[in-house]
Amino acid sequence: MRQRCYYTHKRFRDKLIRVNNQGDIAPGSIQPVTIPRPEHNISRANISSAALKVLYKLKEAGYQSYLVGGGVRDLLLGREPKDFDVGTDATPEQVRSLFRSCRLIGRRFRLAHVRFGREIIEVATFRAMHNGESDAAADSAQSDEGRILRDNVFGTLEEDAWRRDFTINALYYDIKDFSVVDYVGGLEDLRSGVLKLIGDPEQRYREDPVRMLRAVRFAAKLGFRIHPDTEAPMHELGPLLADIPAARLFEEVLKLFLGGCALTTFELLRHYDLFRHLFPLTEEALSHEEEGFPITFVARALENTDTRLAADKPVTPAFLYAALLWEPVRLRTRELVEQGASPLEAAQIAGNEVTAAQVQATSLPKRFSFPMREIWLLQQRFERRRGKAPYRLLEHPRFRAAYDFLLLRAEVGEAPAELAGWWTDFQQLNPVEQAQKVEPAPARKRRRRRRRKKAAPAGDA
Ligand code: ATP
Ligand code: MG
Repeated sequence: MRQRCYYTHKRFRDKLIRVNNQGDIAPGSIQPVTIPRPEHNISRANISSAALKVLYKLKEAGYQSYLVGGGVRDLLLGREPKDFDVGTDATPEQVRSLFRSCRLIGRRFRLAHVRFGREIIEVATFRAMHNGESDAAADSAQSDEGRILRDNVFGTLEEDAWRRDFTINALYYDIKDFSVVDYVGGLEDLRSGVLKLIGDPEQRYREDPVRMLRAVRFAAKLGFRIHPDTEAPMHELGPLLADIPAARLFEEVLKLFLGGCALTTFELLRHYDLFRHLFPLTEEALSHEEEGFPITFVARALENTDTRLAADKPVTPAFLYAALLWEPVRLRTRELVEQGASPLEAAQIAGNEVTAAQVQATSLPKRFSFPMREIWLLQQRFERRRGKAPYRLLEHPRFRAAYDFLLLRAEVGEAPAELAGWWTDFQQLNPVEQAQKVEPAPARKRRRRRRRKKAAPAGDA
């Protein structure tokens, strides 16, 4: 089952309907509800066998064992979950002792990863809410700005519900009797399509600013509207993302843009002024118009990413980053050429500069940044269509990605359509036709060697 965006970019602004202000949700403000199996639609048939094995094994060992998070949310919505998360009162060490293929990960948030082939089930021990103070003995810590640095204070099921991010992410499916437990009003919000943070929104964003990105991601993916209280601080708190490690932001960027709703996500990120904190140079480039037209390449590339994912075609982080950073690279290349650099030199310098600046915001592992720069550099080689050059380019391992990139540039009018068409044709021709299409390389001028005059024997005059 493919997941679909609820609304498209053109319509999303109309859909940001404000919902009634219902005030903060805090412990004790809502009566917990338990929905018995006959009254909800979660069936074990839709839970992966790996997740079921983990759930049952924990239960049989005498621990509490719940499916929680996106798995429960998506199943209740009739969607296919991306992964399954499990909540338990067993400590990470107790979880590890139960499973052979189990690894404990994370310092900030310690949890167990249980592996079944390629599938990983994340098992988290119930956590308690933060009291706002640093308490090394209890293994929790906050920065001066209120950001959670460590969150390893274990708690009860109810406490665990209150420390989660959104109400719709705090629903628990109990493997003991197949009921769904709701402490925070998540079922009601799921029904009315509202994304609401648990607790005081500003404080929750300060604890973990990535929650703003998660709000955008879930709003785009589920087509939910963000509750006004949850939404209000988002416009202002973007700068807090500067404190998040670049590597964590890189992971979030992949989730944001490779989840099938990249275009809506992009528009929402810009709407809340969050995009600039992930891609500062791109935001800067997009704020300029080109010859009176807004720059549309990024939006077109993201739309294409969504189309490819919907058709089960591969999309790599290298291509995604190449597209997201192309505008600043292109503008900087042009600037350097105007200053007298050769086009190739300018493209190389611009690529290096933009990459170096970007990794300050979100990291980008070298295995992605190398192919990304190749995609950029190959763009100039498409212009060389004589002699052996086109054949050599065709054999380049990055040809396909670079050609797809050229097509996108041509679609928004930034590269000549004729050039893109030429390459589309050229690939499909047989060798004889190809040879007819390619103009021969201009004859190389032979350097004439001057004959050296034989030196006259000394004394000859
Ligand atoms: P999906 O897996 O579909 O992207 P998800 O809701 O399962 O969505 P995960 O990142 O897998 O998201 O996290 C699992 C659950 O852990 C969430 O549903 C939420 O309850 C909790 N959670 C994750 N990140 C945070 C956070 N930053 N703050 C509070 N709770 C969080
Ligand atoms: Mg999940």
